[in-house]
Amino acid sequence: MKRLDIAAATEEFYREFPDHKDKTVIVDRSAFSSSHAAIRSFEDKIDEHIRGVMQHVADNGNFIQKKLVQRDGVEDALKAFFEMQLEAIFSSSLAHAVPLNVKLGQKEFESGFRVVCPASPDTAVDTLLEKFRTPAFIQMGIADAFEWEATVMTHLKGVPEELDDAEMWQRFVLDHELGHAVTLRGTDRSLAVDHDFTNLLECMADAYALIRHYQRYGEDSGFGDYLAGLRTTAAIYQGDIGHYSTEAIETVIALNKEGKLAELTPQQSRDLAVEIGHKSFHDLNAKHAFEDTFWSRKITDMFGAATDKSWDVKGALTEAWKKRSLSDAVDRVRNEWTFDGEDALRELLLPVEKHLKNPDDAIAWVGEKGAETQSKLVHSVATHFLERAASIFVDGSYDADTLKATQAKVAANVPGEKEPDRPIVGRMFHKLRTRGLKNLK
Ligand SMILES: [Zn+2]
Repeated sequence: MKRLDIAAATEEFYREFPDHKDKTVIVDRSAFSSSHAAIRSFEDKIDEHIRGVMQHVADNGNFIQKKLVQRDGVEDALKAFFEMQLEAIFSSSLAHAVPLNVKLGQKEFESGFRVVCPASPDTAVDTLLEKFRTPAFIQMGIADAFEWEATVMTHLKGVPEELDDAEMWQRFVLDHELGHAVTLRGTDRSLAVDHDFTNLLECMADAYALIRHYQRYGEDSGFGDYLAGLRTTAAIYQGDIGHYSTEAIETVIALNKEGKLAELTPQQSRDLAVEIGHKSFHDLNAKHAFEDTFWSRKITDMFGAATDKSWDVKGALTEAWKKRSLSDAVDRVRNEWTFDGEDALRELLLPVEKHLKNPDDAIAWVGEKGAETQSKLVHSVATHFLERAASIFVDGSYDADTLKATQAKVAANVPGEKEPDRPIVGRMFHKLRTRGLKNLK
């Protein structure tokens, strides 16, 4: 298996973006004896970050918060807590990026410093791709509650032979994380008032990494199309609409076909990715329409309902999930709290069980939603999902004629230009939460 040469990739990045030498640090975990040692290597930046947080609270916190940061030992406690979080991040073999010392008071999104941690060089393609298809609660370890591996996973196609290349995927993942670092500067934070800000960042990072992919591996690569399928599958199977960058990916694929990417410098690639990202990301009405149509809102609401009644319900579920026992979670919740955990968990698993257990059901479910939706985003997800069924599902595991008929039904539905308004209560809360962003300079 060919591995990504992290040292060479790091050297290349600083050569291409010299201004990132002191802003973006690539931490190769495999070069350190432990995640603790890796974190210690940028301790001065952690100190700077904690001081920034303290200063922000001192300037903007409420009365109690302001009093709190003045107490002895708070800085050390914050630092210890933060390092603990970092250690959890660093102990995973997947790629991660952590922005530090984000300048909260200004309009342009800027972090003082960013740690990028590539996936371990020995991470297999399957491991890198697993998180695109597995719902978060199954990743959390309750797979035994539902026969995910034995049913759903067996219907999903593996990566095609020409893309079964660990180095290629690790490179893309690193370029995506570095893409965040180079595209972020200057992004207008007030866009978060009515847009899915996460989605903007992900669209820019994917566009950048895909442009670089074609430059590195040639314009005949089928990677872009496969990636579009993965991001779409993650929206349906994971409810991950924040990473839904398929429209941006399509734009890059089209530009590649026109031969417009090969000659771009890294800076031009970055500028183009920023432009594509801003044309592709969705607003909050669209996000709500998606979550409301597919199953992710149910999960959010379930946790909302649970945490309203008692913080401990969530704690118990999380704790039991970590121990990989659903029955244990249900028992604890049922015996110790009035909240009916079993019903909630059944609710949580229901859409998966009902709609995703086999490809025909998934196609019918997505098709039905795509044919009746008034939301452009829901329509886009449904269209792309059905379009790519052949690369998502194992050959022969679904009825091809039904798929065709379903695609036609979705194509016949043309949603309006404007997304349907989301409920007023959610809008008001979000407005309150983001009111500070409007007046930033
Ligand atoms: Zn990302």
